[in-house]
Amino acid sequence: MRDRILRILQTYRKNGIRIGTIGSHSALNILKGARDEGFETVCICREKERFVYENFGVADHIIQVENFRDLLLEDVQRKLIDLNTILIPHGSYNAYIGSLYNLNVPVFGNRVLMEWETVREKQREWLENSGLKLPKVYSSPDEINGLAIVKYPGARGGKGYFIASSRDDFYRKAEELVKRGVISEEDVENAHIQQYILGVPVYFSFFYSAVNDRVELIAVDRRYESNVDGIGRIPADEQIQTGIIPTYTIVGNIPLVVRESLLSRILRDGERVYRHSKRIAEPGMVGPFCLESIIDENGEIYYFEISARIVAGSSVGIPASPYSYVLFGENMYMGRRIAREIRLGIEKDMLEEMVF
Ligand code: AMP
Ligand code: AMP
Repeated sequence: MRDRILRILQTYRKNGIRIGTIGSHSALNILKGARDEGFETVCICREKERFVYENFGVADHIIQVENFRDLLLEDVQRKLIDLNTILIPHGSYNAYIGSLYNLNVPVFGNRVLMEWETVREKQREWLENSGLKLPKVYSSPDEINGLAIVKYPGARGGKGYFIASSRDDFYRKAEELVKRGVISEEDVENAHIQQYILGVPVYFSFFYSAVNDRVELIAVDRRYESNVDGIGRIPADEQIQTGIIPTYTIVGNIPLVVRESLLSRILRDGERVYRHSKRIAEPGMVGPFCLESIIDENGEIYYFEISARIVAGSSVGIPASPYSYVLFGENMYMGRRIAREIRLGIEKDMLEEMVF
């Protein structure tokens, strides 16, 4: 497949490359970043969101589709290739398209690692083998011993996740959530049950640059989730009386700066994850990746997820996060960092090391 993609890339006019993505998730970040680095942009969007990308004026070319899976249609791929497009994958590719192996359009980043990211067990293997600390996993509800968080396969943005303190509590809440239509019976059967870490969630958006041969910390954020972040807005009495089961549907993200003495471990962990990625799939991580953590009262960092692509939370860093500003001394954010790498890749004849 690699050869096929590289052959297509070789047909591209190097001074006419365009950067494209699906209109959702972090497209504003990606397309604006491409524009800031002097690229024309292509947005593949549905009719219902088209006006968003027109309204913000970030798309030079719009390819309208019925649904995002149409990205795989031959005529859509043809149009993208004719426009010399390099695609930037994000969370909507996982959620709506799945495997990118049937996509012939050149993609920025390592497709094998993006595939790994979609399977929780593989994520875990990657993080563990990198030497990071992870929450324990309970292989069945019977094993729950202390607070546990219940999740489901795939990128679901926290929808229907809940907390259980025992086997009985698990079944009681799962049944109730199924009754309320929040989750399905199948979700309950395939639930992924993890030790709940009491602490605060912190998400690190890194970028591995082949040009600079280094891991860069571009932004840090935390999530804003309904209704777990909303429950504190009503008094404890009402929380109990109404039988609320707080879940974790993502609504947005909030920028963050971490205590500086944590940075030595955070940067080291980003580096370790990069190094181990080379053992999973050569040449390893290319471009953006995110480590998702909970930090407890002792400053222990537990990593519960990795994303091998741009995450939506990195948009808190537009036009610069404190970290990217210190690193670059100019406005720099994930979408722009990707486009900068592609621009330097073209100038230094390194594009083939970045595109898969
Ligand atoms: P959407 O098109 O908003 O449904 O997003 C596509 C996928 O990305 C879904 O799985 C969402 O849960 C996930 N997603 C979107 N925005 C965010 C965000 N800010 N943080 C985490 N996940 C997100
Ligand atoms: P995820 O979809 O896996 O990114 O997780 C969604 C939400 O669940 C985030 O707000 C996390 O902070 C929270 N979360 C996930 N795993 C854990 C855990 N092991 N302990 C505590 N909170 C967690």
